[in-house]
Amino acid sequence: TTKLPSDLEIARQAQLWPLADVAQRAGLPAESLIPYGRHAAKVDLDVLEGEPQRPPAKMIVVTAVTPTPLGEGKTTTAVGLAQGMAHIGQQAMLTLRQPSMGPTFGVKGGAAGGGYSQIVPMEMLNLHLTGDFHAVTAAHNLLAAMLDAHLFHGNALGLDPDNISWRRVLDINDRALRNVVIGLGPKEDGVTRQTGFDITAASEIMVILSLCSSLADLRTRLGRIVVGFTYGGEPVTAEQLGAAGAMTAILRDAIQPNLMQTLEHTPALIHAGPFGNIATGNSSVLADLVASRFSDYVITEAGFGADMGAERFFNVKCRVSGLIPAAAVLVVTVRALKAHSGRHRVAPGKALPAEMLEENPDDVRAGADNLRKHIEIVRGFGVSPVVAINVFPTDHESELEAVREIAEAAGARVARSTHVVHGGAGAAELARAVVAACEESSEFRPTYALDDSLASKLEKVATQVYGADSIELSAQAKKDLKRFEELGYGRLPVVIAKTHLSISSDPKLRGAPTGWTLPVREVRAAVGAGYVYAICGDMRTMPGLGATPAAQQIDLDEHGEIQGLF
Ligand code: ADP
Ligand code: MG
Repeated sequence: TTKLPSDLEIARQAQLWPLADVAQRAGLPAESLIPYGRHAAKVDLDVLEGEPQRPPAKMIVVTAVTPTPLGEGKTTTAVGLAQGMAHIGQQAMLTLRQPSMGPTFGVKGGAAGGGYSQIVPMEMLNLHLTGDFHAVTAAHNLLAAMLDAHLFHGNALGLDPDNISWRRVLDINDRALRNVVIGLGPKEDGVTRQTGFDITAASEIMVILSLCSSLADLRTRLGRIVVGFTYGGEPVTAEQLGAAGAMTAILRDAIQPNLMQTLEHTPALIHAGPFGNIATGNSSVLADLVASRFSDYVITEAGFGADMGAERFFNVKCRVSGLIPAAAVLVVTVRALKAHSGRHRVAPGKALPAEMLEENPDDVRAGADNLRKHIEIVRGFGVSPVVAINVFPTDHESELEAVREIAEAAGARVARSTHVVHGGAGAAELARAVVAACEESSEFRPTYALDDSLASKLEKVATQVYGADSIELSAQAKKDLKRFEELGYGRLPVVIAKTHLSISSDPKLRGAPTGWTLPVREVRAAVGAGYVYAICGDMRTMPGLGATPAAQQIDLDEHGEIQGLF
């Protein structure tokens, strides 16, 4: 095999189309584009007004088996599939998250896809894009500043400084800011208290941006944000602090999705990027609504495995957008199933052990339970799964065949995809399988009804999606749930913040764990975003940099072009 050029080299060689031509491919009116430089444009939300001219697109979510710490290629597959759709003569549009700059400068790697399935310009996607994350950061920190000013100027609302949950955010991995003391120095420098920073992707405002359906809805959700509680235990909101209007003003442009293109000029809407652990891990509802109004197929990616991002796509995002998923693409790799055999030591942040690359279809078969379970999870939502075998150059024929046999035996459609090496042509088999799956009638059903109690929602996700025997609520979690029901948050959907490295809450358990109980330590409410989330493990909301961060490789060359981004 010849070595593929780097992602950046491939991206550099691309001849990009004018965005008006890309928009035309998507059926988007050219006058809806608000150019941001040469290669990205905001889409005016006016396109959502009036009666749709056609039935909504078929909605396809790209999800995966439980990933190895390296990722299994959902983004590359989503991009490849969209290109593959065009290759077989179908009209498709992508909706993807904007990458956080934290990982771009931290662990080596951008998040624009890979090889011949990328969003371009990849430098632009990976670094700021049109500044939406900065707007989220500013809106978030404005609220924090107004809150601290309120404390300083007499605290008329009676906020309990020990019961403030609103922190500050930054789109840089910075472990030193996880816990900070603010307001040191003389009295006029503010009220002294302990707080901290999260990464911008973990901001509730990022989730609000991803779930809101209009500027008015954005305004309402921002106003609903609960920043903390009074001494009497009453919630204090952003509206009460008088911050919601200014925050909405900051986010006025950020609410518009960003149009870009793939290497094969497939239209892609990039919008919002909420974290996959404590938040929803999905791109925006607005981008889905825009894309589904103009395209035949919309392809979106949901973070981590089907137990994580896809569960939230189905139970939270689709409920908000009202869009009915037509099919789910389940990305699987040979290396992931080998990892799930439990025969290899796979550690976060570490390269895969070399012996994992040796031909060994038995290891693949030994890890099959994980794939079968994810197929079952997708089917549990009444959605048709299409298993996409994301082929790596190091895979062996016998191993690829083993994956196909496992998927077929489980009754799922299955296709190999070589989109990273061959672009859309390499995803043609997958595209045909997806089109066929979309022809089946969908009987989409979320896991729970909003009328269920919060505890019952958590239990249904744990038992029906994850396959846990039951949930175990700590005393704190029981108190939190009772309180939230009293405060009127009982009808919100739930997000379970657990590890993505296992379907269970124990990152060390491989395959499809059975006979376990989901421990719920505490429950929090993201009232503005509109969900309640249960903490089931140690959740990092501010990553750190390693000893040799990717940032050390990034620079400009003599022409001012970015180098060292992969
Ligand atoms: P995910 O979206 O599931 O996290 P990505 O699509 O971002 O995964 O891929 C993770 C990494 O693996 C990226 O660096 C990507 O370029 C690489 N990768 C994905 N698929 C392939 C493949 N088929 N061959 C080689 N590298 C791949
Ligand atoms: Mg991805």
